[in-house]
Amino acid sequence: MSKEMLETKYDIPPEIRNQVTVTTLDKVYNWGRRNSIWPMMFGLACCAIEMICTAASRYDLARFGMEVMRPSPRQSDLMIVSGTVTKKMIPTIVRLYNQMSEPKYVLAMGACASGGGPFKEGYNVVSGVDKYIPVDVYIPGCPPTPQALLHGLVSLQRRIDAQSIPQTRWYNKEDSGEAIPIPVLGPDLMDPRQYEQIRKYSLEKAAREKAVAEAATAGEPSATPTH
Ligand code: SF4
Repeated sequence: MSKEMLETKYDIPPEIRNQVTVTTLDKVYNWGRRNSIWPMMFGLACCAIEMICTAASRYDLARFGMEVMRPSPRQSDLMIVSGTVTKKMIPTIVRLYNQMSEPKYVLAMGACASGGGPFKEGYNVVSGVDKYIPVDVYIPGCPPTPQALLHGLVSLQRRIDAQSIPQTRWYNKEDSGEAIPIPVLGPDLMDPRQYEQIRKYSLEKAAREKAVAEAATAGEPSATPTH
């Protein structure tokens, strides 16, 4: 048990100090969770190489209880989005996110995952994974170093420390935790949540084009000579 947990503001008799402690359920619960985060084992681009380095011996993720990278979303607490998020990949990322069980967290590693990076506005790139799934921690850099990733992971631990059981979304009955609609890749990427907006825009555009075509037809000089 950490020194921090043994320290308490309550007055404990000196003879049982260091043997008994008084703490909150939130603190014990969060202490267990923050030190056993299992990241999902997947990478998207060059940032993934830095993530792999972070897990190797020099930086050693095991110090944080995070070395058990899982190949299944059902066993993972943390999705590290390490690399460029393409339009082709985002449906799979959203599906994997939906398949993770609560409590779950997302860490956007690097400029690409955070906002599109050097490929922002590219025809095939999503300008940040947070357009589709909620992100808890962003790490800047292209690529971020293993130290930067470790800093992001420690930031996530601090975020977990601040959570309280009554407020967490996975125990909140009103927040049903519905799955995020999976984007559809057709001629371009479409978010099912924006279908109504897209339909409205398309109808307005078609009406505008029709009006322009009718006005052009009405103002056209007659093709047949009138003499
Ligand atoms: S942020 Fe830089 S290093 Fe990371 S995936 Fe994008 S281009 Fe590669």
